Parts: sequence; C-alpha cells; structure tokens
Amino acid sequence: MKKRLAWTFIAVASGMVGLASIIYLIEMHYHISLFQKKFPLPDPHITYYNYHFEQALIESTIWTAVGTILLAVCISFYIAKRMTAPMIEMRKIAEQMALGNWNSRVKVEGTDELAHLGQTLNHLTEQLQKHEVLRRNLTSDVAHELRTPLATLKSHMEAFEDGIWEPTPVRIHSCQEELERLIHLVGDLEQLTNLESPGFTLHKRKENLVEIIQQSVRTMETNFILKNVELVTQIPECVVVFADRNRIAQILINILSNSLKFTSSGGTVIVKVTEGDNDATILIRDTGIGIPDSEVSKIFERFYRVDKSRSRKLGGSGIGLTIVKKLVEEHKGSIRVESKVGKGTSVFISIPKKDL
Ligand code: ADP
Repeated sequence: MKKRLAWTFIAVASGMVGLASIIYLIEMHYHISLFQKKFPLPDPHITYYNYHFEQALIESTIWTAVGTILLAVCISFYIAKRMTAPMIEMRKIAEQMALGNWNSRVKVEGTDELAHLGQTLNHLTEQLQKHEVLRRNLTSDVAHELRTPLATLKSHMEAFEDGIWEPTPVRIHSCQEELERLIHLVGDLEQLTNLESPGFTLHKRKENLVEIIQQSVRTMETNFILKNVELVTQIPECVVVFADRNRIAQILINILSNSLKFTSSGGTVIVKVTEGDNDATILIRDTGIGIPDSEVSKIFERFYRVDKSRSRKLGGSGIGLTIVKKLVEEHKGSIRVESKVGKGTSVFISIPKKDL
C-alpha cells in the first residue's frame, strides 16, 4: 500500500515535471529559431553563442527536472509513509483482535476520515470485547447452573443402580423435580436467547392495560388461593397503552409469580395502576421476605438470586427478571424495585401510552 501510493505520487510528479520541461524546451527552441530568422546575424560568433546559450538552457532544464523528480521521490515516500501509518496500525490492531487480544486500541489523532475510522474501530473493539465477556460469562453460568441438578440426578441414579437406595416414590419424585428444574432453565434460556436475537420484534398496538392485568390475575388466582395469599387489585376501568399484549401478560405473570414465591401464607399482594400523561404505571406490592438494599440493583442480572438455595428449592433459575427487564425496555418503558427486608417488595413498571 505504502509503495503503491509512493509510486503513484512519483509517477504524477515526474510526468508533470517531464511534460513541463519538454514544453519549455520546445518553446525556447522555437523562440530562438524565430529570433534568428527575423534578424539573420552575419556574425558567425553570435550564431555560435546562440547555439551555446540554447545548449546551456537545455542542460540546466534537464538537471532541474532530474533534481525535482529526485526531490519528488523523497517527498512521495515520506508522505506515503505518513498517510499509511494509521492504516498499518489499524491492520495490526485488527490482527491482534483476531488473535483474541481485545485490549489494543488505535491512537486517534485529528478529525479527518482516518481518525473517524480509528474511532469506529476502537468502538467496534469495545463492543466485541463486551460480547466476548458476556459469552464467556453465559457459558460458565450455564455450566454452573446445570452442574447441580445433573450431579444430584447422577448420584441418585448411581445409588439406585448399586442398590444402596430403594427407588421409593419420594426419591423418584425428587429426581423428577431436578428434571423439571432443568427443563425450566432450558426454557428460560431459550426465551432470553430469542429476546436478545436481532430478529426479535414486539407486536405493539393500542391495548387496554386493565384487561391484560385482569387476564393475568385470573391466570394466577388459583395459585394464590392454594398458598393462602390474598391478591388485591386496585385498577381503573380502562387505561390505554401502546404495547404487545402477550408480552405484558408475560411480564405481569413473572412478577406475580415472584411475589407469590417470596410471600408466606397469610400475606397480601396488591396490583395497582396509575395513569400519567405519557405512560401508565403498574405497581405490584407484596408483604413478602423483601430484598436487602445492597442486592436490589443486582436482581435483574442473569442467574442472580438473593438466596441461591432457597430460590432453587422454589424452582427459580434467576433469569425471570432479566427477561422482564428486557421486555419492558423493548416497550421503551422502565422498571424499578423498592424493597425492605421483612416488610415486602414493590415493583413499578411504566409502559408508554403512545408509540415512541
Ligand atoms: P427467580 O427465577 O430465581 O425468581 P428472578 O430473576 O425472577 O429469578 O428473580 C431474581 C431474584 O430476585 C430471586 O431469586 C429473588 O432472590 C429476588 N426476588 C425477586 N422478586 C422478589 C420478591 N417479590 N421478593 C423477594 N425477593 C425477590
């Protein structure tokens, strides 16, 4: 690249200098011969001087042209080197990236196109680095999540096979629970992958939020009755939002399931809706175990569970709220959690009323 650029400069400069010299020499010769024709000089000395004068001019023109071309060669190589240096650096960084070294960055100087290209490459490197970290974390998280139920199942099966344990209905049921957990985890992961895929779209249109809430409440009602947790709704008749009906129901069922999971028998869960100028806010408040202040911001992270063993027993994979947050964000809405240990948890979800 550097050599090609330098030779292009040299060819252009030499061509121009060569052409200018030839034109100059032809013109000079033409003028001298015109002068001699107009004023024929009888003195042979003058003719001789004229001849020498022309030769001197030709020689000096040729030397000037050669000098200029040599200078053009030096300047061309220097300019080509300077111009290609950032590109060579970028190529080296890209090669480093291909080898898995994500910490290299291009030094960005100036504001020209090459500087912009450097900035874009740095941005691309950062994004790829983030995705690589996410990919690694996801793989290790999934492996970690799969290990416990698989190890439990393996030890149970070995005990049955060796005759150490009788395969009683209780023990078989416990194996089945582990399998259920695995199926649940795989289902959640599949959903999260779908949500994060570039082709994912919501089917948004004007919907009555109240109807969606009532439908979700009806779906969950029996579970609340079975656990003896009161489910109260304080909702107006109609609040129109711009949303995907099925996805909003999915969000609500997820949050209601959590409230039910972490609220003991005799507790209460309230679902409230308030309407603002631009959005509607759903509040789901429970009187459950609550979440420590330091953990509230982490509960949306993938696989995060405040009490791992308790959550596992309740069948939680720690992905539910990650999916909820993603769905709320896809709606251009927001989600916020307030909680007090021993008192309960409130989840606020705002959904825009118009298409944003
Ligand atoms: P899980 O499937 O384990 O419920 P989530 O992503 O839905 O996963 O929730 C993450 C964690 O947040 C839960 O494991 C739990 O520790 C905490 N959490 C969520 N909702 C509540 C709630 N209403 N009360 C107490 N803790 C909660």
